[in-house]
Amino acid sequence: MNDQAPINKIIPFSNVDGPGNRTSIFFQGCTYACKFCHNPETIRLCIHCGACVPGCPTGALRRENGLVRWNATDCVQCDACLKACPHMSSPRIRWMRAEEVFHEIRRAFPYIEGITVSGGDCTLYAAFLKELFPLVRAFGKTCLIDGNGAYDFTRDPELLEVCDGVMLDIKAADPEWSRFLIGNDGACALRSLDGLLRAGKLAEVRTVIFPGRDHENEETVRTVAQQIQNACPYKIIRYRPFGVRTEFQALLGEDTTEFEEAERYASLARSLGATKAFVV
Ligand code: SF4
Ligand code: SF4
Repeated sequence: MNDQAPINKIIPFSNVDGPGNRTSIFFQGCTYACKFCHNPETIRLCIHCGACVPGCPTGALRRENGLVRWNATDCVQCDACLKACPHMSSPRIRWMRAEEVFHEIRRAFPYIEGITVSGGDCTLYAAFLKELFPLVRAFGKTCLIDGNGAYDFTRDPELLEVCDGVMLDIKAADPEWSRFLIGNDGACALRSLDGLLRAGKLAEVRTVIFPGRDHENEETVRTVAQQIQNACPYKIIRYRPFGVRTEFQALLGEDTTEFEEAERYASLARSLGATKAFVV
């Protein structure tokens, strides 16, 4: 194949992207544009409009033959370009082949348990993952997918075969609430949940709890808990407005979900058999 994929960033050591110390690889581009996304700059590919170039304080961005070029050496990671971009994108993307990513992350192998691929939506690049994972697994490292629920894993047994597990977002069980949050009815994510359970590849499920949305929160937590039981950890995540686009903070709430409110849902999940439910 040798296809390239747009890589937003690689974090050599992370202890929040799955079990143990892991290398995290973030892909650019997403199938959704969730209202509560905390990394909206990963949603779209750059269209080279140039709006971010003048505000770069170090000249790390320049226009060349109609394209915006990024010079990593001159970049001071100030994020001014991300704030200036009107297209939910970033100019700081590297198009890389699977072998190139592998060679870059290999240096971390003595210190990590495995890798986690994320985004954006890394499953947009399933063919790329099917090249990368065997290279990594040959060194005894695990490969986890951080999935946003858009990919129907049940239709890609080859990908399941080469990955060690999927950490799956179940954002909403109620179709209307799902349409509001992410723009579709959420059926695909629930299908994937079922398929991953059957395949023994469900590594973790995550649900964000929104303040004051009792009915919607409860329906999602009940649906997930009754299905996963104690098969995997269930992360109950408190909604945090920080980083959410301001136009959506007004719709979703300007307050962080209280720990006690989230804990009520974790407790509900545990009472329904999801014994590994906890709040983060
Ligand atoms: S983060 Fe963006 S604006 Fe800041 S120096 Fe790097 S390229 Fe320029
Ligand atoms: S990152 Fe955004 S603002 Fe900059 S060139 Fe690309 S689309 Fe335009």
